[in-house]
Amino acid sequence: MTEVYVAIGSNLADPLGQARRAVSALAALPESAVQQASSFYSSRPMGPADQPDYVNAVIRLTTRLPPLALLDQLQSIELEQGRVRKEERWGPRSLDLDLLLYGDECIQSERLTVPHYGMKEREFVLLPLAEIAPALVLPCGTPLNDLVARCPRNDLAIIAPAAHP
Ligand code: ATP
Ligand code: CA
Ligand code: CA
Ligand code: CA
Repeated sequence: MTEVYVAIGSNLADPLGQARRAVSALAALPESAVQQASSFYSSRPMGPADQPDYVNAVIRLTTRLPPLALLDQLQSIELEQGRVRKEERWGPRSLDLDLLLYGDECIQSERLTVPHYGMKEREFVLLPLAEIAPALVLPCGTPLNDLVARCPRNDLAIIAPAAHP
């Protein structure tokens, strides 16, 4: 089993409900088990500001799915929850599932970059991740806490307790 971390984000169509449904969908993945969920957070949108605030959480799961098979599963959950591909980068969406970490692996392929390229400077990823993995060290050797210490909070706030997997 490999330990992986997945980031959940939503800012459309009942974002907190979408995020909770995503935790349930992750818990139902084949060859996988949710180990821990962070609290649910609200965050300001990244990129275009003319969109609602986001709800975010981070989940730790163990899985036997290889990385691309896991990405396929994450993308089908996004589609099941009404994700529509738009032209606009970082535009509003009902559900976004990003694979943050896959064990200690560093992956560079057409469809997948792991660790996720944006995680080191995003408060809505780093703080939920630190909540459930305070001693985590990234594959590059950087302690998560160093990234958290230098990351602006940007109004990030806890809005609901963790879902029970
Ligand atoms: P960002 O990647 O900056 O958070 P985004 O989440 O809005 O932006 P998407 O449109 O959801 O971007 O994803 C675009 C593509 O990113 C996906 O089709 C997927 O193949 C690719 N991708 C690369 N690395 C990852 C990863 N670690 N997790 C999820 N998708 C990834
Ligand atoms: Ca816009
Ligand atoms: Ca994303
Ligand atoms: Ca994504």
